Amino acid sequence: MTDRSGLVVAAHGRRGVLEVDGQRHPFIPKGRGLRVVCGDRVRFEARTGSEALLVTAIETRSNALARIHGRTRHEEIIAANLTQLIAVCAPRPAPDPFLLDRYACAAEILGCRFALVWNKYDLDGQAARSAADLASLGYPLLTVSALTGHGLVELSDRLAGETSVLAGQSGVGKSSLVNRLFTGSEAAVGELSAATATGTHTTTAVVMYAGGQGIRLLDTPGVRQFVPSVRSGQRLDRGFREMREPAARCRFSNCRHLQEPDCAVRAAVASGSISARRYASYCQLLATLDNGEPQAARR
Ligand code: GDP
Ligand code: ZN
Repeated sequence: MTDRSGLVVAAHGRRGVLEVDGQRHPFIPKGRGLRVVCGDRVRFEARTGSEALLVTAIETRSNALARIHGRTRHEEIIAANLTQLIAVCAPRPAPDPFLLDRYACAAEILGCRFALVWNKYDLDGQAARSAADLASLGYPLLTVSALTGHGLVELSDRLAGETSVLAGQSGVGKSSLVNRLFTGSEAAVGELSAATATGTHTTTAVVMYAGGQGIRLLDTPGVRQFVPSVRSGQRLDRGFREMREPAARCRFSNCRHLQEPDCAVRAAVASGSISARRYASYCQLLATLDNGEPQAARR
């Protein structure tokens, strides 16, 4: 039988669920070396006498979201082919601006869109102002409430046609938002996918929900507080969009914008056109990369 292609909509370890022509099937990868993640487009074969499809190859990924594994410290790819990273925050638990900068930086380096979703609008209608500096850089800022439904139409519009991943500290309301965005049957498909992917009922599978308007939303229960990893050796200033234009004017093309002479980025910080807070995040992130330290998730 000729091989065909499908989309991985749930993955956990060596099991998962493949979507083919709108139908979902369990799969297993062929061979030990094949590490399939949610969002992968793959080639597969059907096997006689087995319900599970056999995944034979992964098509080239447009990007891959990785996180640092807490215990073993190795980098783990958790999803592929994302087009949007959504950072969720709320008045409570208090937002961590450095964490938000890291999400924005990861999205830029992945080459995907970034948006901030400010949840629990019902608790505090003004709190979203504290994300004003990110909004002023052109990142969309949506105020929503999973409790009252405020802003959910705008959020759906933002998600339409995108493959998004939700990130954010625990307690900001990510699961509440998923439950509001997806109808019972769609959510049930997600849960079923997770269960099939793991063989047991566990929360570590990465699952892709599919909704109307071409919405695809990746959810990573259990690792929702992940901080996307930025590889050392990558130009970190690419992750800070307001630095790109001045960085081109630094005297040294490989300027890191720390102590180098004639640094246009530091000049922009001094003149106030780049936020000192954002620049401090850049320096802090650069220091963690230089030390070879894993970027441990912050709460
Ligand atoms: P997660 O850890 O990010 O998935 O957060 P949850 O969805 O579990 O929500 C954490 C807590 O915040 C729960 O007690 C929710 O009921 C509450 N919560 C979520 N969204 C809202 C909201 O829009 N308004 C209010 N007041 N509480 C919310
Ligand atoms: Zn510079």
